[in-house]
Amino acid sequence: MFLQGKRALVTGSTSGIGLAIARALRAEGAGIVLSGFGEPDAIAALCAELGARHVPGDLSRREGAEAVMAGAGPVDILVNNAGMQHVAPIEAFPVEKWDLIIALNLTAAFHTSRLAVPHMKHAGWGRIINVASAHSLTASPFKAAYVAAKHGLAGLTKTLALELATHGITANCISPGYVWTPLVENQIPDTMQARGMTRDQVIEDVLLVCQPTRRFVQPGDVGAMAVFLCTEAAANVTGANMSMDGGWTAE
Ligand code: NAD
Repeated sequence: MFLQGKRALVTGSTSGIGLAIARALRAEGAGIVLSGFGEPDAIAALCAELGARHVPGDLSRREGAEAVMAGAGPVDILVNNAGMQHVAPIEAFPVEKWDLIIALNLTAAFHTSRLAVPHMKHAGWGRIINVASAHSLTASPFKAAYVAAKHGLAGLTKTLALELATHGITANCISPGYVWTPLVENQIPDTMQARGMTRDQVIEDVLLVCQPTRRFVQPGDVGAMAVFLCTEAAANVTGANMSMDGGWTAE
């Protein structure tokens, strides 16, 4: 329970990886602020489970990000996890999807970080954990906006690490390969269309073929990495991009 007395905001924590990170931080005693979309009953159930508050807000808009940060109050641990994907060839890539993915997967982390850092500096301790992706290190076709945003997020993270290094604040990326969540499941139909494949072919020949272990990463594994980054043993881990991709980016 080494995180007792710390407040953690995890964006995109109503689902998938963000929820697993919120559960893992809660298990170590952190007070949790949830953010993300969902059915009111489901969100209320998560708040009850985690003893958490939920702050509404669309993080793809500056006003939404500012509302989330105002609602959360001072946070010691900021996990920028909310994200989305769209799969399409560049010449058919919907411009509004490009704008949305850059806004949510990259710009939101700029807004939350700039608003979280003053309290962290005052406290002399902070953890910024950005859930990037193997796609922050390598590319795949048909994912122009996602790959661009995640590479940008990795760059933002390194900059924050340097700026905050003497303040007891670390900034790191966690970069999973494929984790079985709604984000991955939802991209299968478009990938089938873009590549002319069946569902099973997409899973085996597009998703798992990237990962030498041939296994999906589990959301709880990402939660465990987030917990590690909050420990004192990780005080010198900053500006790092922690790959959890079954060896994908080692190839
Ligand atoms: P998910 O779709 O299960 O969850 C996304 C979360 O973001 C949800 O809580 C959703 O409500 C929230 N969200 C979406 N749009 C939002 C908005 N405009 N404002 C506020 N919240 C919003 O996705 P996931 O797979 O858990 O992905 C979480 C993060 O992990 C993303 O950044 C994703 O890019 C990254 N990631 C996922 C995988 C994977 O294989 N699933 C791999 C690498 C990286």
